[in-house]
Amino acid sequence: MSDALLTARGIHKSFGDNHVLRGIDLEVRRGQVVALIGPSGSGKTTMLRSLNGLETPDAGTLAFDGGPSVTFEGAPRSGRARRAAEARRTALRDRSAMVFQHHNLFPHKTVLQNVTEGPVQVQRVPRAQAEERGRALLDRVGLAEKADAYPRQLSGGQQQRVGIVRALALEPDLLLFDEPTSSLDPELVGDVLSVMKGLADEGWTMVVVTHELQFARSVADEVLFLDGGVVAERGAPAQLFSAPREERTRQFLHRIL
Ligand code: ADP
Repeated sequence: MSDALLTARGIHKSFGDNHVLRGIDLEVRRGQVVALIGPSGSGKTTMLRSLNGLETPDAGTLAFDGGPSVTFEGAPRSGRARRAAEARRTALRDRSAMVFQHHNLFPHKTVLQNVTEGPVQVQRVPRAQAEERGRALLDRVGLAEKADAYPRQLSGGQQQRVGIVRALALEPDLLLFDEPTSSLDPELVGDVLSVMKGLADEGWTMVVVTHELQFARSVADEVLFLDGGVVAERGAPAQLFSAPREERTRQFLHRIL
């Protein structure tokens, strides 16, 4: 029996002539952290965005909790098919929350307003309840006193921690991280990684696109090495990093370490 939270099968995606994802399989079990690593342009971000409907795959299936699969098979032609496809995308989007490379906070809203926007506007959570939960989450990442500050008054690392809190506030089943530390100054990276490690320790289910191989090695349960839009190798971090089976994995690790 598989206790997969999310199962993706045969995901394909092209942008024009650029066939970016060429049949990716991915399974994420509850409480598991899966890291996607690989060279720039290998399709990591596109795969991550496909998991929550920010990109619509051209082919493949996605299923949460072993429930009915969402099947992608080209552009829908009729209005009804388009509406059905849109409903499927919305259903997928509700299961996960994304932490972006650039935090994408609203500059004219306070930290607390940024955090409560999704729950209040999209999920119709009563404002008082959303604010209470938002303040508790900010406290957890050491930003309780910044609730009424504006994003520009925070450091990059603090902004990114707000980005994480904003995702947590949606209470998703799955957290998706798209290189959350790559735009940060080196001295700020550690804070964000330690928040992410804390979430993993608490049992959050996470898919993380990252260039932080030390982080992947110490936190991930499984690592997928993407190259040219396929999973060139997958395995437990101890195996993949110490004894890669594939020549291209070896070359990538040599280049980056
Ligand atoms: P990675 O995350 O591994 O660096 P990406 O998934 O970002 O790779 O990109 C894979 C390829 O897809 C790149 O060639 C990129 O230029 C292309 N690509 C990604 N998003 C788009 C888009 N919205 N429109 C056109 N091309 C895109």
